[in-house]
Amino acid sequence: MAHSFIPADPATLHPDSLLVHGGTTRSPYGETAEALYLTQGFVYDSAEACEARFKGEDPGFVYSRYGNPTTAMFETRMALLEGAEAARATASGMAAVQSALLCQLRAGDHIVAGRALFGSCRWILEDFLPRFNVTTTLVDGADLDAWRAAVQPNTKLFFLESPTNPTLDLVDIAAVAEIAHAAGARLVVDNVFATPLLQKPMQLGADIVVYSATKHIDGQGRCLGGVVLASEKFVTDHLQTYLRQTGPSISPFNAWVMLKGLETLSLRVERQQQSAARLADTLADFAKVEKVVYPFRPDHPQVELARRQMKGGGTLVTFVVEGGKAGAFRFANALRLIRISNNLGDAKSLLTHPATTTHQRFTPEARAEMGISDGLVRLSVGLEDAGDLLADIEQALAKV
Ligand SMILES: *Cc1c(COP(=O)(O)O)cnc(C)c1O
Repeated sequence: MAHSFIPADPATLHPDSLLVHGGTTRSPYGETAEALYLTQGFVYDSAEACEARFKGEDPGFVYSRYGNPTTAMFETRMALLEGAEAARATASGMAAVQSALLCQLRAGDHIVAGRALFGSCRWILEDFLPRFNVTTTLVDGADLDAWRAAVQPNTKLFFLESPTNPTLDLVDIAAVAEIAHAAGARLVVDNVFATPLLQKPMQLGADIVVYSATKHIDGQGRCLGGVVLASEKFVTDHLQTYLRQTGPSISPFNAWVMLKGLETLSLRVERQQQSAARLADTLADFAKVEKVVYPFRPDHPQVELARRQMKGGGTLVTFVVEGGKAGAFRFANALRLIRISNNLGDAKSLLTHPATTTHQRFTPEARAEMGISDGLVRLSVGLEDAGDLLADIEQALAKV
């Protein structure tokens, strides 16, 4: 087996170094860049070697649904970055979420989850899992008493997202982890909005962290991917077999793109965050903007918690354009540089109108309860010049 770059003590290296070198294995050619092993399977020198590989006596690869050298580099780099014992990559963020949940659930189990979740995550909890007699209580994520009150004798899992989409509300991860553990349940955190650089859920007590790598980790709009991070024991006892037998594997090509994405993750997130903070502050002064939400702004109701559990306010800004849906649509249609899209974390700045897209399946009452008004838009701030982005927003607001 080729030597893998895993520092003896990862704590001695800063994230920027791990993002460039973590997990790299080199073929006998000694290539500089990570090799792309675009192969389904592997060949063996002898029937005996093949037998040993299958028995697990020889640690090599068997089949790319089980594992692949390029995918393994991506997983190791993610584990080092997160400070997790183990990572497994998946075909998409949703493949990561459903694997993290389903691999440990059985009929009769109960989940407590923050209400403000990515749409497909809500579908899994509300529409899909009840088919197998797994029930969920949805709570207001900011209300710790609601988390406590929702616990049942059969509660197996807590699940949350923070900051939430699209209203950028926060959940106190450490406090919820404590409630989960007191109830004998595991806490799963979907950490997409914060990125692995700005928030470390495991240090706050989370047992499992999931990412859509499609977002900041690729960060350049190319590939779908996902990651589940957990303890070695959880992966061995639950996740590994589930992934092997059900097959939500990432393509080695996509894993390679993600590896290259990780090399520039901190540069991109830092710049995008800087621009997002500047845009949020300027937007707050615009007459046609009724409200701005950004976790590190002093007017965010949970700014203290944000500063406690995050290293920065993130790369997304949410704001309410005057004039409801018509105002938001006129604004979106007048943008020239910022594009209309539902993705986030991209190099390109992208604007979403949640009420008519990601959250359209909810009733107006349910949306109101979630704080998603018809004038609300979510801006994922990209890598363009912040002054150009501001100019674009200003000229589009003038048309509202
Ligand atoms: C995008 C996203 C997902 C799903 O990821 P895919 O890669 O699109 O499957 C899950 N959770 C959050 C918070 C997301 O933003």
